[in-house]
Amino acid sequence: MAQFEHKSPRITEHALIAALRKRARMRSPDLQLGIGDDCAIVRPKSNEEIVITTDFSLEGVHFRREWHTPESVGHRCLARGLSDLAAMGARPVAALLSLAVPNDLVAARRGKKTWLDSFLDGFFSLARQYKVPLAGGDTAQSLDRACFDIVLLGAVKRGRALLRSAAKVGDAIFVTGALGGAAAELLALAHTRQRFPIMASAQSGHPHLFPEPRLNVARKLVAMRGIHAAIDVSDGLSTDLAHICEESGLAAELEAAAIPVHSLATEAQRKGWVSSALDLALNGGEDYELLFTASADVKIPRRIAGVEVRRIGRIVLRRVRRARISLRDEDGRVTVLEAGGWEHFSGT
Ligand SMILES: [Mg+2]
Repeated sequence: MAQFEHKSPRITEHALIAALRKRARMRSPDLQLGIGDDCAIVRPKSNEEIVITTDFSLEGVHFRREWHTPESVGHRCLARGLSDLAAMGARPVAALLSLAVPNDLVAARRGKKTWLDSFLDGFFSLARQYKVPLAGGDTAQSLDRACFDIVLLGAVKRGRALLRSAAKVGDAIFVTGALGGAAAELLALAHTRQRFPIMASAQSGHPHLFPEPRLNVARKLVAMRGIHAAIDVSDGLSTDLAHICEESGLAAELEAAAIPVHSLATEAQRKGWVSSALDLALNGGEDYELLFTASADVKIPRRIAGVEVRRIGRIVLRRVRRARISLRDEDGRVTVLEAGGWEHFSGT
């Protein structure tokens, strides 16, 4: 892979690559060789294996420049990949970032900085937090919309990666943090058309604009006994739990009362933006919390790495012509939960 080879003479190529290289300077024992050669070289520990994931961040699909600050776009771009590493129980080793940005966005200034500078502020702020070195990438000029592609390399002890296919009958199902907050904040952006909508519970953070990848929780989980399957909640609980069930050939029963509903989702319901906060928690996407299963006889702490962990249901045998996931409400009524994860900006 070309290391920040630039194809547009109109963008100040040297300035961009120099800026990236300067910001990418971060020492890491895993990264033997970073930006500057034809390839990067990583060297994991001898008892580890490498996991790899890639994610697009496309303007108009994953973000809008009217709604998202460039810092948020940079943060989310990296957070999505880091969340996938967390879902495998891996620690980050290196990132590769490819970007195609139209000239008007490169030139757009916000105060003293360009849009792209602020994007990199958001990106590298999160990279520093989790000590992820940028090992390379590619740049090009896009004709209309911005497009970012992140590749993340992670390391995990051999044979210890947390797989979607590893759930067992009788496992308890757990989720970190609270759900529906990211979808609620996205609704707030759409309704108020402000980048940072003032909401009563805004102190609880910005789950859509600045999601927190659960790498610290993952590090603890992978060292614990009896943790089986895991996935990150990127498409919504109903969809992501269905992935675990499908890959494991099993089914799941959820307790509605146990689902941790984010306070922003409750607020979205109060404002009349949605009829049910629980619906946002079940089907809203991009929360980037961890969903995992564990042996019922293993005691899972109520907090892991400072993050609340809730037991929300259990894994059961798959019955022919029966739903993959059933949901029992507080009155004991059982309904089928269809995978209903959000399509981002559907209808636009
Ligand atoms: Mg994922």
